[in-house]
Amino acid sequence: MKVTSFTPPVRTLMGPGPSDVPARVLAAMARPTIGHLDPAFVSMMDEIKHLLQYAFQTKNALTIPVSAPGSAGMEACFANLVEPGDKVIVCVNGVFGVRMQENVERGGGVAVTVEDAWGEPVDPDKLEVALRTNRDAKIVAFVHAETSTGVQSDAKTLVEIAHRHGCLTIVDAVTSLGGSPLAVDEWSLDAVYAGSQKCLSCAPGLAPVSFNERAVERIKARKTKVQSWFLDLNLVMGYWGGGKRAYHHTAPINALYGLHEALVMLREEGLENAWARHRRMHLALRAGIEAMGLKFLVREGARLPQLNAVLVPEGVDEAQLRQRLLEEYHLEIGAGLGALAGKIIRIGLMGHSASMKNVMYCLGALESVLGEMRAPVQTGVAMNAAQNAAVLN
Ligand SMILES: *Cc1c(COP(=O)(O)O)cnc(C)c1O
Repeated sequence: MKVTSFTPPVRTLMGPGPSDVPARVLAAMARPTIGHLDPAFVSMMDEIKHLLQYAFQTKNALTIPVSAPGSAGMEACFANLVEPGDKVIVCVNGVFGVRMQENVERGGGVAVTVEDAWGEPVDPDKLEVALRTNRDAKIVAFVHAETSTGVQSDAKTLVEIAHRHGCLTIVDAVTSLGGSPLAVDEWSLDAVYAGSQKCLSCAPGLAPVSFNERAVERIKARKTKVQSWFLDLNLVMGYWGGGKRAYHHTAPINALYGLHEALVMLREEGLENAWARHRRMHLALRAGIEAMGLKFLVREGARLPQLNAVLVPEGVDEAQLRQRLLEEYHLEIGAGLGALAGKIIRIGLMGHSASMKNVMYCLGALESVLGEMRAPVQTGVAMNAAQNAAVLN
């Protein structure tokens, strides 16, 4: 086997992440590698913390990127905040809630699940009931933006309920960060984690996290050591904290250049403007999708702008549809997961991918492929509808 350099094909990424990475971010990652304790690098780390505080809308001092993907951000929250025997209420309405439950149980905690149908937001009343019947619960965990279904839950209300019952909260904001309103301080989220490759449009592999004072106190008051050496925030803080930096692990230097650039771009655009852009592009896509006669999985009002779950029309082989989009249009969209496999497609409008160029490209490609597949859809109407919606919104 003769192996030469790998040159990836150029794709348009409109799935559940990663999203299209802008040239500026790619260029940043190609800059020279320096040492992870180099003063120049350390001052860039401080800027990243500052920029992440802006993105999360928080003043939390413990706001850093964990050196690993979003799933490691999830693990960092559970590993540090849950001690063996602790009871955790986990709201499950999709794939990532199930993973939270796994995290609790593998760490020796006791998970009590509050279940909602996939495609529905977390029901605050069910959480209230669970907390009344589990007075010894210490933590409530839920997913703000369920990427597996395209549903948004009401983080502010869920956190209020949890706090009223004396619980801390762990919130998955992997898909919400940078894409739809998220206000860590205003909503009093205690521990929150995200990912670099969704609405921040950075390369995958970093997990921004933020912990408030209450969460930090809980970590400091632990009776047992955090079972993960790598994710133990007491140790990580020795590197990412203020003052003198000590070696903990070698930071992914070039990946962090990329995150820095992506966050600078977010700052330039303005967070509110980024949220508004995601919403506007969602409304344009929605107009096109509905003009074709296709339907959304999630009811209006609970939909995420950045993740659009669309029901596959009658008689269409969903895997074949995605394969044709990839082969003929270099366009990646996502499949349904679990019980929704084969039933929905997931169209991401995340970060840099949330553009009119992508909306029009996706609608055009869908119309053309679905038309050729003889699906029961209207053709020749979607792009016009999207254009009108974009002008109106
Ligand atoms: C993508 C995602 C994750 C996991 O992030 P990875 O970077 O793939 O590890 C967790 N939660 C949600 C809601 C996600 O969308």
